[in-house]
Amino acid sequence: MGVSPVEIIRAEGLGYKYHDTDEEGLWALSEIDLSIAEGEFVAVLGPNGSGKSTLAKHFNALLLPTSGKMWVGGMLTGEEKNHWQIRQLAGMVFQNPDNQIVATTVEEDVAFGPENLGLPSEEIRQRVAEALEIVGMSAYRQHAPHLLSGGQKQRVAIAGVLAMRPKCLILDEPTAMLDPRGRTEVMETIGRLNKEGITVILITHFMEEAVAADRVIIMEKGKIVMTGSPQETFLRVEELRALGLDTPPVVELANQLRSAGVEISPSVLTVDDLVEQLCG
Ligand code: ADP
Ligand code: MG
Repeated sequence: MGVSPVEIIRAEGLGYKYHDTDEEGLWALSEIDLSIAEGEFVAVLGPNGSGKSTLAKHFNALLLPTSGKMWVGGMLTGEEKNHWQIRQLAGMVFQNPDNQIVATTVEEDVAFGPENLGLPSEEIRQRVAEALEIVGMSAYRQHAPHLLSGGQKQRVAIAGVLAMRPKCLILDEPTAMLDPRGRTEVMETIGRLNKEGITVILITHFMEEAVAADRVIIMEKGKIVMTGSPQETFLRVEELRALGLDTPPVVELANQLRSAGVEISPSVLTVDDLVEQLCG
């Protein structure tokens, strides 16, 4: 028998309203039930305004439920005494890398979090070096963050979160403002961290990024409307289209080849899969 997975995130009947009003339409989140296991890689998709960022902010107690309950690492986010620990356990990376720069050198920037934890300076130095190594930015430790490329800045932002030694990394459209190269750098970094055991929750509007996840969650109007493996999810082309979402280009190509009579397994998600199917 396998060891049962440890749950790191749990939501039960989670609802959230930005304003204190009785109007029905103003729930940014409603009836969210969710369980995420330690080590999982979950991608969250959905149209603009569907509640993705609002949900993300519940994962590290930046927002607290209006109704229902949210646990992170077994701790209720509704209890203020838990916030300190929750925010170390679950770190957030946001869309705009420029808004996340807090210091004048990369090294100081990454040290900001651990310094706020009041750690001894030797420990801080060690954590900063390690975090920069993991994101492949050690060579830039003395550089000015604002002069880096977008992809490099986001990797520094990720290092800043890693220096807190989180178990869970929440990234809210971290590649939205990056060029293709920066996107690749960030996605490779995320993939590597997940392989090393960090739980990843990636909000994205790039379908091809969601393909790398273990599980996809699709939101609409504040609710979870679909959840499943990328394979299952991206076969539901019509439903995705109705939500204004695309299928990843490779899956689209596989679907079209299949309708044209080419025999292709439904498990094709990446260029490599497709090549393997056609030539393997
Ligand atoms: P997404 O990230 O999927 O685009 P959001 O979580 O940002 O969606 O927004 C969900 C809903 O909450 C939207 O209707 C949005 O207009 C509303 N909303 C988001 N932020 C605020 C805010 N600070 N104040 C009031 N309403 C907000
Ligand atoms: Mg958002």
